[in-house]
Amino acid sequence: MIDPFGRTITYLRVSVTDRCDFRCVYCMAEEMTFLPKSELLTLEELDRMCSAFVRLGVRKLRLTGGEPLVRRNIRTLFRMLGRHLTTGALDELTLTTNGSQLARYAGELRDCGVRRVNVSVDTLDPAKFTEITRRGRLEVVLEGLAAAKAAGLAVKINAVALRGVNEDELDDLVAWTGEHGFDLVFIEVMPMGDIGGENRLDQYLPLSMVRARLQRRWTLDESDYRTGGPARYVTVRETGRRLGFITPLTHNFCESCNRVRLTCTGTLFMCLGQEDAADLRTPLRQSEGDEALEAAIREAIDRKPKGHDFIIDRRHNRPAVARHMSVTGG
Ligand code: SAM
Ligand code: SF4
Repeated sequence: MIDPFGRTITYLRVSVTDRCDFRCVYCMAEEMTFLPKSELLTLEELDRMCSAFVRLGVRKLRLTGGEPLVRRNIRTLFRMLGRHLTTGALDELTLTTNGSQLARYAGELRDCGVRRVNVSVDTLDPAKFTEITRRGRLEVVLEGLAAAKAAGLAVKINAVALRGVNEDELDDLVAWTGEHGFDLVFIEVMPMGDIGGENRLDQYLPLSMVRARLQRRWTLDESDYRTGGPARYVTVRETGRRLGFITPLTHNFCESCNRVRLTCTGTLFMCLGQEDAADLRTPLRQSEGDEALEAAIREAIDRKPKGHDFIIDRRHNRPAVARHMSVTGG
């Protein structure tokens, strides 16, 4: 699959549910209305959908959400998708999780062929953790991380940089991930979805600032490691670990974009930062064969836009994109 700008699409992210057991302040409002379960693709349909993408050239699948591990029987989907690793059609099956269920799932994920997980941890302070997530407990996530490590899964920690919240912990996060052998990625707050009374402008901490502060204590060696996504990486010389920065608001990262995103209702977003989308559920349900579905996927890829237009400033103090990150999947 090659889009109009010559980019080869090899990476599919799938939001398997819009639901979550946390309510992170930058991601969701405290009171959320989730999709009725009847709207969701079944696990079998998700498998069919992903398998069509794999046939068309996707080499990497990431399940996300919402919280992927709160979807009932999600292990079945991991098992089904794992077969593409065995045949060699797929290079990687992975997930992004808040870690709340990881202690339970780590071993099984490994059995299904998962080798790496992204786990979101914005703070190492238990009280602050509960404040940010509104419902989470750091201790439980740390148990999940220990289980992931014990199962032999490589871990990358995602931390959203939040002004006045975790900016005093930047060095601690680098030191902690270094000790545990985890990679770390800092993310800038993105203006996606209504988050109730919270103000994103108050939360926004430019990563240029984060990087400058980290350089006071750490030696950050430039690295040409890329994943085709928005992250730019350095290596922390003192820990030997990779450190990434995702800066959608201050930099354009679209020229090398290799990914598209599928929601749990079967809508394909060709860009995280644009509204244009393609309905794949209708062609999926139209027939038992996958011809119509594959044609719809190709047609969608032909519409992949050149780039996003996120903007966060005082004049645009409302989400640039109305849907929440949990719908499209981070
Ligand atoms: N629930 C899982 C988790 O938290 O890892 C997976 C889904 S979550 C939407 C994926 C990633 O997006 C998380 O690392 C989260 O911190 C990040 N995220 C959510 N909303 C965001 C926003 N508005 N701006 C930047 N990052 C966001
Ligand atoms: Fe849930 Fe992840 Fe969003 Fe937090 S960031 S509310 S854990 S989906």
